[in-house]
Amino acid sequence: MSGHLYIVAAPSGTGKTTLVRLLLERDAGIRLSVSYTTRAPRAGEVDGTHYNFVDLPTFRAMVDAGQFLEWAEVHGNCYGTSKPWIAAEMAAGRDVLLEIDWQGAQQVRALFPAAIGIFILPPSLDELARRLDARGTDSTETIATRLAAARTEMRHAREFDYVIINRDLADALTDLLSVVRASRLDWASQNERHSGLFASLL
Ligand code: 5GP
Repeated sequence: MSGHLYIVAAPSGTGKTTLVRLLLERDAGIRLSVSYTTRAPRAGEVDGTHYNFVDLPTFRAMVDAGQFLEWAEVHGNCYGTSKPWIAAEMAAGRDVLLEIDWQGAQQVRALFPAAIGIFILPPSLDELARRLDARGTDSTETIATRLAAARTEMRHAREFDYVIINRDLADALTDLLSVVRASRLDWASQNERHSGLFASLL
């Protein structure tokens, strides 16, 4: 069985992490890729669960060793997706979700054109600024930088297959679940899953 590769991107403060967490709670069939980052852990973040936190020399050594499927610098820190982990999950036919930025999405799309890109947008710029501020985990300067970066990130929304506007969390989750559900109904997936039925009917 071949799995689906989902790429979820959005600027910080869009509710992406919450939406992905809720999706994974509802759908035990999807595995989340835990990225490597040189960013310092935020309060409550657990090494190996939210990210694999590494220092820059370690990250650079991993780049040189070809350990990343993709990697990018975002807000001055490096982030990368583990190539061996993805390879093992995909070989096992499991659905995998990458929560990465537009630069990483471009690299993954070039390698896996069948990857399903989902972009999450805030309902307005004002609401995005308010949500970034409400998070209260970053300095004012970091928030301003992230707001500017959000404009850049959102310019790449058109490169994705699906766009979800997170005005209401429950609605946005329904949208996300719908995309995942629909993606599993494509011909190839259904043919693999129901080969006996298809052989008898078609
Ligand atoms: P944060 O530091 O807020 O957790 O993440 C900052 C940005 O880095 C987000 O847009 C997030 O999606 C992105 N990011 C997280 N992991 C990866 C990764 O492995 N690769 C890339 N390219 N971006 C990532």
